[in-house]
Amino acid sequence: MEFEERSPLITDTTPEVQPAGSPAGECWRQCLEIVRGRVNSQSFKTWFEPIAPVKLDGSDFYLQVPSQFFSEWLEEHYFSLIKEALAQVTGRDIVIHYLVKAEDRDEFPLVEETPDRSGVPADQPPSRPEIQATARPAGPPIEPALNRRYTFGNYIKGESNQFASAAALAVANNPGGTSFNPLVIYGGVGLGKTHLVHAIGNQLLAADPSKRVLYTSSEKFTVDFVESIQRDHVSEFSNYYRSVDLLIVDDIQFFTGKEKTQDIFFHTFNTLHQLGKQIVLSSDKPPKELKGLNERLVSRFQWGLTADIQPPDLETRIAILLKKSSDDGVELSHDVVEFIAANITSNIRELEGCLISLLARASLENKKIDLDLARSVVRSIVGEVKTHITIDEIQRTVSEHLSIPQDLLRAKTRKQEIVTARQIAMYLSKELTNSSLKTIGLHFGGRDHSTVIHAYQTTEDTMKEDPMVRTLVQQLKSKLELRSV
Ligand code: ADP
Ligand code: MG
Repeated sequence: MEFEERSPLITDTTPEVQPAGSPAGECWRQCLEIVRGRVNSQSFKTWFEPIAPVKLDGSDFYLQVPSQFFSEWLEEHYFSLIKEALAQVTGRDIVIHYLVKAEDRDEFPLVEETPDRSGVPADQPPSRPEIQATARPAGPPIEPALNRRYTFGNYIKGESNQFASAAALAVANNPGGTSFNPLVIYGGVGLGKTHLVHAIGNQLLAADPSKRVLYTSSEKFTVDFVESIQRDHVSEFSNYYRSVDLLIVDDIQFFTGKEKTQDIFFHTFNTLHQLGKQIVLSSDKPPKELKGLNERLVSRFQWGLTADIQPPDLETRIAILLKKSSDDGVELSHDVVEFIAANITSNIRELEGCLISLLARASLENKKIDLDLARSVVRSIVGEVKTHITIDEIQRTVSEHLSIPQDLLRAKTRKQEIVTARQIAMYLSKELTNSSLKTIGLHFGGRDHSTVIHAYQTTEDTMKEDPMVRTLVQQLKSKLELRSV
């Protein structure tokens, strides 16, 4: 089994920076080996040690650096060295993106990209013409159509949306000025795409109310376009959309199959991009997987950054429930919050829906919000209710079943039978709970998440080879599942 960057198994709650064993970490480690032999030790210490690998995504490598100046210095002095080293390690031509580490971690990055355009395919973004700063007519009055409730302030960040929200914030703080143009955010329904793209618009307007911000959906864009044809107003339509500083188009999957609309959108896109204006798009899939979307549009969308939002992990779901309930002035007990978060897993809209039903039921039926009420509301939403197995129960069951004292599972003992039992317990914790690797590691005597990955992998491999172990794990699994019904 392979653990890739995007694997939901890597769910440490705090890492922007990848540990040494991850693909980004490993690749960077090897790259540093090469660099070390080519620069003097002082330069290495000053310019390479502070760099932290964040993410390796195809041929895009994200590196965290301490400041904008630092990234500029690297660009100027070490650009080819880093590129060569990365090419040597990966066998690919890697595009480097710099994320500037902010003081406040939440206010994460400002981003710069390597200006290297050598050897890239012809269909690449043109460099921005200097005319962008010249005064243009303000354009027709604009109605941003933003929902003021969707801000960065009330957007909960977690492993599942960290990258997308960091990119969104970078764009909001420097529209048209980062390499994230367009910024395409994609993910399943109810995961927070619309919220995030509105947050960009709201943040920009809050910083500078004179900015022309326009939010629209691909459907509204299509309807407006068709209407403009009927009324013979196509040029007004075009001028309106091309007069903005930030154009946000939500749900571009609905452009598929609409050739004429795609054409006009293509030209709108080009005009805005050339003027250095920011474009933000959302989609339910990565653009290249959208069937019925014109190739040239797909290629334009790839000029910038495509960032995904994954379903939220347990910790994020808990954080969202706590935040939303406290915004509503309600304090939920921890077991109610954990129960809902453990059972409503698909998306955030459903999580909100559940909370609203819970509050409504409590007030209409004049009931206390307790586990029973939560159970009944959750059952009405998801049908069956999943049981909530805890890591502690897993440890207890494994220790009983194998007659090993439970505290040895958390201790440092290296005796083989204890190590195996511990690895199986970690494996079951990953399989049966939604806890992050970090949380699991903490329950096993403060081990780190790479140990949990190793335990998971080892157990999986042993199960394949050894039928006894396979049966043992299955027995433990059914015991746990039965116990918690
Ligand atoms: P999508 O556009 O991906 O279908 P939305 O942006 O409409 O999803 O999100 C659904 C609901 O969940 C919205 O009410 C939104 O405010 C809320 N939501 C989504 N993600 C978050 C988050 N990370 N923090 C707080 N609320 C969120
Ligand atoms: Mg949406």
